[in-house]
Amino acid sequence: MRNGLKPDLIERVLGAKPKYTIAELEEKFPERNLPDGAFVTRFAPSPTGFMHLGNLYSALIDFKLASQSGGVFMLRIEDTDTKREVAGAVDIVKNTMHQFGFKYNNDEKYGPYFQSQRKDIYRSVAADLLARGLAYPCFLTADEMEEIRAKQTAAGFATGIYGEFARDRDITDEEIIERLDKGEVPSIRLYSTGNPEVRIFCKDAVRGSISFPENNEDLVLIKSNDGLPTYHFAHLCDDHFMRTTHVVRGEEWLPSLPLHYQLYRMMGWTPPIYIHTATLDKIDAETGKQRKMSKRKDPENNLDFFLGGGWPTEALIEYLGNILASGYEEAKLKGAVKSFWEYEMKPKKIPMSGGLFDMKKLEWWSKEYIATLPVSELVKNVVDWANEYGEDVHKEQIKDIDYLTGALSIERDNPKRIRKDFITWKQTLSEISYFWDGLFQPNCEFEFNKDALNEFLNTFDIADDKDTWWNKIVAVATKLGVKNGDVAMSLRVAVTGRTNTPDLYSVMQVMGKERVVTRVKNSI
Ligand code: GLU
Repeated sequence: MRNGLKPDLIERVLGAKPKYTIAELEEKFPERNLPDGAFVTRFAPSPTGFMHLGNLYSALIDFKLASQSGGVFMLRIEDTDTKREVAGAVDIVKNTMHQFGFKYNNDEKYGPYFQSQRKDIYRSVAADLLARGLAYPCFLTADEMEEIRAKQTAAGFATGIYGEFARDRDITDEEIIERLDKGEVPSIRLYSTGNPEVRIFCKDAVRGSISFPENNEDLVLIKSNDGLPTYHFAHLCDDHFMRTTHVVRGEEWLPSLPLHYQLYRMMGWTPPIYIHTATLDKIDAETGKQRKMSKRKDPENNLDFFLGGGWPTEALIEYLGNILASGYEEAKLKGAVKSFWEYEMKPKKIPMSGGLFDMKKLEWWSKEYIATLPVSELVKNVVDWANEYGEDVHKEQIKDIDYLTGALSIERDNPKRIRKDFITWKQTLSEISYFWDGLFQPNCEFEFNKDALNEFLNTFDIADDKDTWWNKIVAVATKLGVKNGDVAMSLRVAVTGRTNTPDLYSVMQVMGKERVVTRVKNSI
């Protein structure tokens, strides 16, 4: 510990009078009144302009833990890095929350939820540390820090501002005043008394107790250029005063855990329970090896890839839910639960090492999911997707909703035999594209049995029921001495251009007499 600063010097060092005492903050943001076992979680993205799969994975854990326990899920915008900020980025975050149905409860009482609007809180906590000699103003310039770094590297020391390298650690009041008078603006650094020879035990809900060397770096708490906090300090202040019970974050934060424990201890606060999630991996198409998803290399790492591509958000949730709660698939197959929302996930079971994200698996979850949808919802999703992301061809397909509904209704009435060939909203539209004359592609390679087609036309009546329709096909086959299937295949290809389609009778019923007759005639 060093000498604490007096209130007027603290005010000068911070550039403003701290608004609250710690006691006042404790009162302003009281313990939440929630049932036992309720999780208070937050999704805390930096507004960088895009959301990746890892963000979604994290947010899903946060939302699920809070919602299944009757707790609170918050959305906090970590906008303390003004250099990295991108216009419109917050809307992207909020939209994503909305699209995936992660409802957040940003109760005003615990706000504001933009870190840039919480300066009063950070300043007040920093003032407390400054007064107790646990933090100090540091006037090192970027150049001076660079010099220190170069020296450390040359001598083979760990880099950073610590111990003898922390020039201003024991700066006197006189020097502080002198530098402030010259117009220098300090950052506020932690006065670390940690000893790296000693180990500190920290807890992670998945990994259990982990020991780390104590932190001895005098890390920046408040930056000099904009008076905003670093991630570490904001995490301390926000998660304490927002009364977060569980901090779910990427494993890249694991090495900072001893620092965070140290900060909580200095304040006499209980740290939250931490859950550090492993990164999502994929199998590299070239090497065949498992590796981390990459922002640059993997388009599917960006959520826009899935939204634009028409992947059902629920399918992503189901699949990610199964990665993070490995028992889920089994429970679902057994029929014990219908969706991930009904399954109780256990924080302890979240995978500790890279969860493997596999597009083929996602396809399976997506097919299963779409198969459970009533036609009206399938239609709505397809239409919404086409309106927002579709191209002209897709827009053409949603003009006549009744016709679209007809095409999508085929093989959906028997719950035991629902077609499972729809994967995404976009692919669904292309799967049924032959229903539209403008998109229909006649099959020019197929060798039609023209006699059979002619015979079919002679007796074709759109009003026939399915049995009558089939009996007529059988009659044509018998007359010509060919197989029933051959007649049906010629018809199928004539009408749809494809050799593989759902129930042909239903297809013809939806298409209507004229379209069927025209296409059959054209094939002849
Ligand atoms: N803004 C931090 C990040 O995006 C949040 C980490 C956390 O959830 O604490 O990595």
